[in-house]
Amino acid sequence: MRYAKSIYRGGAIIDAIACDYSSSRSLGLVCPFCSEPVFYRAGSKYQREGTTVERAALFSHYQGDDDHACELRAIRKEGQDYITKLEAEAKGQRLELYNRHAWALIRKKLKSLPKFFDVAEKAFGDRYVQQQVKAIRQYLFTDLEEVVLEGLEAYDRLVDRRTGILPKDRFFTDLEIISDLMIVNLEDKPLQKKIIEELIRFLATPKAKWLVAKLTVMSLTQLAVYLSGQITEQGASKEIINAIAGHIKQSYDHKDFMGQILQTLAIVNWMQLFTELESRNELKSGK
Ligand SMILES: [Zn+2]
Repeated sequence: MRYAKSIYRGGAIIDAIACDYSSSRSLGLVCPFCSEPVFYRAGSKYQREGTTVERAALFSHYQGDDDHACELRAIRKEGQDYITKLEAEAKGQRLELYNRHAWALIRKKLKSLPKFFDVAEKAFGDRYVQQQVKAIRQYLFTDLEEVVLEGLEAYDRLVDRRTGILPKDRFFTDLEIISDLMIVNLEDKPLQKKIIEELIRFLATPKAKWLVAKLTVMSLTQLAVYLSGQITEQGASKEIINAIAGHIKQSYDHKDFMGQILQTLAIVNWMQLFTELESRNELKSGK
């Protein structure tokens, strides 16, 4: 069958065509119908009666033969509708997980930064922070496709960093964060991008208002701490952040702050979240 369900990736439906041996191994793939494990079979080409026949990549049951009941079901319209429904349910479940866990995971990645949140929030002033939250939400609402594209590009640029190209155009508060990114396997790249896109689209929904507010403060803090030139434990004193907040208000806007948020979303290993939740049985992996 063409589609399998990944229990390690929040129930995501995986297309065999976008898979290979190594990626399929890390996904925890099961049959969408019976939840039995399935394995990946690469596509092939063979000759039949003088013409080249192409067989697409697919997933098979271990005990399977070609007329396995699930595989027959998968090619019928009823089966396809069921898979579409499963994917929609899994997506709903993932959005719920982003809502519950995304902030904790991001916060963890920021290392020493969270202790500056309060200082920065005071330095910028509540009114200014609220204005930026509003502007970012409005930006997400009106230019969502542009933001999604920027988010995916941010991830690609960061992955390029692995090959030695430094991202020149953005501000990092914590250089260690960049090395954390390296945890994401390149073979997981399409899924990481899918999750980043889902998350950005989630941020545009009313439910994510709280998360957007948190991310906005994070972004302002990151920028202030970065511009202070101090990324050490002792750095970024209250006075310095106060002085820099004034400069940021004049020289940067919500698009810059959104850019910083996107960079941060891109560096979190989201698949790890699903794997952790899976092992804690918080993900429904059955039918
Ligand atoms: Zn099955």
